[in-house]
Amino acid sequence: MMADSALVLFSGGQDSTTCLAWALTRFARVETVGFDYGQRHHAELEARQRIFGALRRSFPEWAPRLGEDHLFTLDVLKQIGGSALTDSTAIEMGANGLPTSFVPGRNVLFLTTAAALGYRRGICDLVGGMCETDFSGYPDCREKTVNAVAVALTMALDRPVTVHTPLMRIDKAETWRLAEELGGEALIDIIRQETVTCYEGDRIHEHAWGFGCGVCPACDLRAKGYAKYCTDLDQRAQEG
Ligand code: ZN
Repeated sequence: MMADSALVLFSGGQDSTTCLAWALTRFARVETVGFDYGQRHHAELEARQRIFGALRRSFPEWAPRLGEDHLFTLDVLKQIGGSALTDSTAIEMGANGLPTSFVPGRNVLFLTTAAALGYRRGICDLVGGMCETDFSGYPDCREKTVNAVAVALTMALDRPVTVHTPLMRIDKAETWRLAEELGGEALIDIIRQETVTCYEGDRIHEHAWGFGCGVCPACDLRAKGYAKYCTDLDQRAQEG
């Protein structure tokens, strides 16, 4: 088994792109897995190939480590439905205290699928962008949940499964900062230009923080995080 390999859950968004860069600085070989689960738009999935290309061009030292990409269809989430991410309902706060963008079971299903793929590929280190400091409060993004899933998968596969979550305890401003630490301005530019976080998949409206509708909760979070990152950057420049 290759201990120096990792499998990154890579959607084409800001968080998973930062996780991919994180893995590329730590593992000799990095494979990626993405999921088509009937999202409202395909902008994120289309971004994935652009991001691979940009990373290979801007980071020649990472290029040889970037291995196979896998894309799976998980129609079952769309079939179950009821989420604003798979159905054309509004993204708002639901009666259960969670945004209607919550897709029940999504991350558990993703991690299970990734671990099964890892089993076949001889990879036991998974990397995911789950984050519990996020506004959403998705219960399947919490550290406790992710750790419990890792334990369950280790038992189910009878092989150690580790889930690395480099973003778990940091906020969106710190996620930009982490990207800067990992790949400098070049990585910040790739994230700004190529990644899609917007719930509407908007690639028309350009902002300082990248493309997006600018009004959905995901754009709002990304914009605020970027603004704070820039403020912190100015502060660091003044201090240093
Ligand atoms: Zn948006």
